[in-house]
Amino acid sequence: MLPMNDILFIQHQTNMMYPEIIPMSLPAIMNRVHKRFPVRGYFLEELTETHLRNARILILSIHWYVSIKGAIQTADWAKRVNPDISTIAGGMSASVFYPFLLRDSKIDYIIRGDGDLPLLFLVEALLEHKDVSQIPNVAGREFVADEWQAADQDTLDSGDYRTLDWFPTLDHRIRRMHTRYNGKILPIHPLLATYRGCPMPCENCCGAAVTQKALYRRSPLLRSAGPVAADLEAYSDDRGCNFVSIYHDFASLAEESYTREVLGRHYDLDVYYELTRLPSPAMLRLIVETFRRGTIAFSLDVRHMTSCQLVDVPALIDAINLVAATGRFEPRLCYLRQGLKENKAYREAFEAVRQATPCTVYCSDWWWEEENPLPNSDGLCTEAIYHACMNNSNRYQAWNYLFRLSYLMNYHAPALNHTLKLFRYAYGGVK
Ligand code: SF4
Repeated sequence: MLPMNDILFIQHQTNMMYPEIIPMSLPAIMNRVHKRFPVRGYFLEELTETHLRNARILILSIHWYVSIKGAIQTADWAKRVNPDISTIAGGMSASVFYPFLLRDSKIDYIIRGDGDLPLLFLVEALLEHKDVSQIPNVAGREFVADEWQAADQDTLDSGDYRTLDWFPTLDHRIRRMHTRYNGKILPIHPLLATYRGCPMPCENCCGAAVTQKALYRRSPLLRSAGPVAADLEAYSDDRGCNFVSIYHDFASLAEESYTREVLGRHYDLDVYYELTRLPSPAMLRLIVETFRRGTIAFSLDVRHMTSCQLVDVPALIDAINLVAATGRFEPRLCYLRQGLKENKAYREAFEAVRQATPCTVYCSDWWWEEENPLPNSDGLCTEAIYHACMNNSNRYQAWNYLFRLSYLMNYHAPALNHTLKLFRYAYGGVK
């Protein structure tokens, strides 16, 4: 049995709104390693030089590009303290920028594409002093492996997306945030794992099928209904878990039989459910019958707030009123301010929905307004995009402070926070 701190995962300075936010697939990837070789996750602020000196492997996640700078700094620190430590990074941004990251940082190995099995193989080879140059998806300073491993249905279905015992402080903080939950669902664990990639063809989104093909060399995958329902059951039975977020919508994208299997019973959970398209009334009814209460986010356009191509507006009005009539769910209309400015039909549709429904509204431009680092057909971004991302890595900083402040106020003074509506502003919504 290896000592607990042989393999470290560090939640470094990520520039996300809460340091507790982790990519949806990360628990599955880390749990796969943790089952064979104990991993210990730490937030950067709890890590000491002793931890680093005693460790052999350091793992960093660079999923969102705003995390790149923090990862570079952390790897640099680790190597200064312990030159023998092996540093590994993976995630979408690590993948598209791997040549530049290997050049500019002390990161030894980058895992490209899906990390589920490659990370396990790499850790195993490093611990056993074996050659790592032929491990699928791995790139080092001297080599890029020829072999490629894309996640498949079995990988997706066998992943453990729930357990955080490899990262005790995160687990503790998440439980504390759920305990203090007072109706505002935070974008923290658990995020229900359904799709890897998205079947929709939207531009400017790394989840879109064509981009997934370049990045991961596979089509979008949908986790089987059984394991997804099992996750919901476990969260529902866990008295320390009060809510779940569903950003990867299946009710409007997958077969109705899939949705019926996943939402086949009542779950003792609140939900934030972000719809990609407009689901049928039957599917919408299923969502509101399945969960206790929460927020259902609708998009005014057919491309998940990335276009001005409108949904069927009368059907949207009916859907929002169906949700509002429950009295348990907040129907939220997501829109683009840019669309209101530039497109008359879009503006009229927005006003029509607002007048006909009691929806709250949410301006989504800030999320989509910039160019995402989209890879070419080889799954790589240019150096110009890399520098633009590095220069832009603080773009969410003001929002992040506001989110953090709103969370702390909600935690310590919820009544005052509701009076100030800080949460509403932090989330970009207006009545
Ligand atoms: S914008 Fe939304 S719907 Fe479109 S590809 Fe991305 S995740 Fe899918």
